[in-house]
This record gives sequence, structure tokens and C-alpha cells, in this order.
Amino acid sequence: MDFDFIVVGTGSVGAAAAFHASRSGLKVLMVDNGHPPHDLGSHHGQTRLMRHAYGEGEKYVPTVLRAQALWEELERETGERIFERTGVVNIGPAGAAFLGRVRASAERWNLALQVMGPAEVRARWPQMTLPDGLVALYEPGAGVLRSEASIRAHVRLARDAGAVEAFGTPVRSVASDGNGVTVVADGGRWRARKVLVSAGTWTTTLFPELPVTPVRKIFTWHETDGRYEAVSGFPGFVSELPSGNQFYGFPAEDGILKIGRHNGGQPIGSPDERLPFGALDSDAHEVSEFLDRVLPGVGAIRHGASCTYDNSPDEDFVVDTLPGQPDVMVVAGLSGHGFKFASVLGEIAAGFAGGRNPGFDLSPFSLSRFGQYGR
Ligand SMILES: Cc1cc2nc3c(=O)[nH]c(=O)nc-3n(C[C@H](O)[C@H](O)[C@H](O)COP(=O)(O)OP(=O)(O)OC[C@H]3O[C@@H](n4cnc5c(N)ncnc54)[C@H](O)[C@@H]3O)c2cc1C
Repeated sequence: MDFDFIVVGTGSVGAAAAFHASRSGLKVLMVDNGHPPHDLGSHHGQTRLMRHAYGEGEKYVPTVLRAQALWEELERETGERIFERTGVVNIGPAGAAFLGRVRASAERWNLALQVMGPAEVRARWPQMTLPDGLVALYEPGAGVLRSEASIRAHVRLARDAGAVEAFGTPVRSVASDGNGVTVVADGGRWRARKVLVSAGTWTTTLFPELPVTPVRKIFTWHETDGRYEAVSGFPGFVSELPSGNQFYGFPAEDGILKIGRHNGGQPIGSPDERLPFGALDSDAHEVSEFLDRVLPGVGAIRHGASCTYDNSPDEDFVVDTLPGQPDVMVVAGLSGHGFKFASVLGEIAAGFAGGRNPGFDLSPFSLSRFGQYGR
């Protein structure tokens, strides 16, 4: 056996897995088709939101709280800026299911959450307008993660702990034979006891049968007048408007505010189809509805980027072993909300490599919830 554990795709989750596994004494190989962090996957654009009172469902809260602790550990160990507690405000129609789940999560897990109406929002953030019928749930403990910096840190620490890397090396196949797993890549062929497939969107090129749809997404950076920075108390935000469109964004940095639309996008079948920002006429207007209604003072687009979501049918994660291949774990279908979990998903995958119990109920993330993968 060449390795105890091979990580196929060393992006957000893979880098964290390599770090935890190599720290626990395993012999680890990190493989990636690029040189992470990079802009080929889903982790570029510097920042990602961290929320704890979780609109996608209470079932995520135990893992997200562990993820938060791990990000803070990474920050302490490296001395780098990984997490900034800017607060995040959840905005939506008073009866929205997403907001209901935010409230239920906060109540059950005793998370600080402030309910705010239009007048309170205007008093606290005069830059923000809450349209009629919308409410705001502000989570002061939430904030912003530095995605690229944390991948860089995980890779470096994994390397320091002895992990070997094969970067710039696309993997072509992963196959278990009951005595171990063979990973074949351009320029390499290795055997390991356990493998993690954390190839993000393009997990589909290795296992096309998995229920994951790659979707092209864009995000844009806008000019502001300086009132939208975290130092001015401006928070991160996620929002659902009465139209059903969902938006998210970050406090401005150096006068530039980043924002994106969570729903929508263009399903694609190969990396070449991820056209750059600006290739579609609709790119320029993607977030206009939100800016016009909620942040009317934010200015023109400075630049934009395209990225990909790997959407599962129910937009919940897949964290499971493959049917008939109990030594291959797959983490996929993170559906545009997975970065915040990368630290804990990496710890869980390293536990799988080391034969340890995950310590969390992963049944909501099983493949068998999609009937054809039942076992
Ligand atoms: C625009 C945008 C905004 C987002 N905002 C948020 C947010 O605010 N909060 C949040 O929590 N999440 C957010 N997300 C989601 C989050 O970024 C992703 O869920 C997360 O980064 C996915 O992690 P991953 O490890 O699965 O994929 P990645 O980080 O993309 O890593 C996969 C790696 O596998 C490599 N790879 C793929 N195929 C192969 C192969 N065949 N051989 C070798 N290597 C391969 C890739 O190059 C890549 O490095 C956002 C995503 C996007 C696109």
C-alpha cells in the first residue's frame, strides 16, 4: 500500500481532511488538478459567509458549531486572519421557511439572534432598506471566513505534518477492490487503504451516477462610498425577497462590496461550459433586484467572477461511502453552502481514514436518501 489515505481534490474539504489525517499520523497523499487554492473549483473569491443559526436546517447546527471551533483553532495556530466576526443578518418575508429554521436553530441551540423590523434596521444600518413585509434576524456571532487563506493554511500544515502532494494532476479513476483503493491520475497511479473523493463540482466526472448537478454561478464586486465596511458595523447578509430570489453578500473591503444570487444559475456539463463573468447578458443584472430594494446606495460593478455550485437534488450535502466501496468516502453536493463546513467535514473524513466514529449523525447526508442509491 502506498498511502493510508488519498485525498482526491484538495480544495476546501480535501485540504482540511489532509491536514487532520496527516496530523493524526496517517501517511497522506493530496491530489488536485490545480494548485490549491485556485479558481478552478468553488472556493475562490477570497471570502465565504459563516452562519450558525442555520436556515438550511437545524440538522446542520452541531457540525457548524464544531466547524467554527476548528476555524478558530486554525486561526490561533497560524496567526492568520481566517474568521472575522462581522455578524450576519438574515432578511426575508416574515413567514419564510428559511427564517423559521434560523429561529428554530437559534432557540434549540441557544444561539444569539436579534429580531429586527424596518425601523430597527434603518436605525442600526442606515445604508439598508427593509422592504415592506420583510423582517431581519441578526446573528452577531456569525461572520466571514477567508476561504483561500484557509485552504493555503491547511495545505501548508498538512505538508508540514508529512503529507505528500501531487498537484496539477487530474485524477481519472478511483476504484476499490476490497483490499484497498486504486487512484489513477495523469502521471500517477497509487494504492491506499482509504480514499476521500472531495472533487467538488467535478466529482461528476469521476462518478457521473452521483446525484450532483454542476451549476455556473457568478458574483460581483461593487463600488461603495465607505459606509459598508465591517469597521462601520456593516454585517454580512443573506436574503430572500418576495420574488423568491435569494441573495448573499459581505461587508465591503477597501470600499468594494461583494454580492451574489444564491438561486438560479446555469446547469453545465463540463468545466469548459463555466463561461467567465460577463459572457451572458444577464450577468450584469444578476443582483440588481436586491441592490435596488435593499442597498440602493451601492454603486456600479467593479468586476465579477464565475464559480460553480455542485447542487444535490435537495440541496443537502452528500457525506457517505460509495455503494459497494466502503473504503471510498465522498463529500459532494455541498450546494453552494458548504465552505463553512469544510473544517469539520475534513475532520470527519480524517476520522473515516483512521477508523474513528464521526461523532455526528450523518444520516441526513446519506446517499440512500436518493432511492436509486439505497443499499
Ligand atoms: C459564488 C459562490 C459563493 C459561495 N458562498 C458561500 C458562502 O458564503 N458560505 C459557504 O459556506 N459556502 C459558500 N459557497 C459554497 C462553497 O464555496 C463550496 O460548497 C465549497 O467551497 C466546496 O468545497 P469542495 O471542497 O467540495 O470543492 P472545492 O473547494 O472546489 O475543491 C474541489 C477540488 O477538487 C479538484 N478537482 C476536481 N476534479 C478533480 C480531479 N478529477 N482530479 C483532481 N482534482 C480535482 C478541484 O480543482 C478543487 O481544487 C459558495 C460557492 C460559490 C461558487
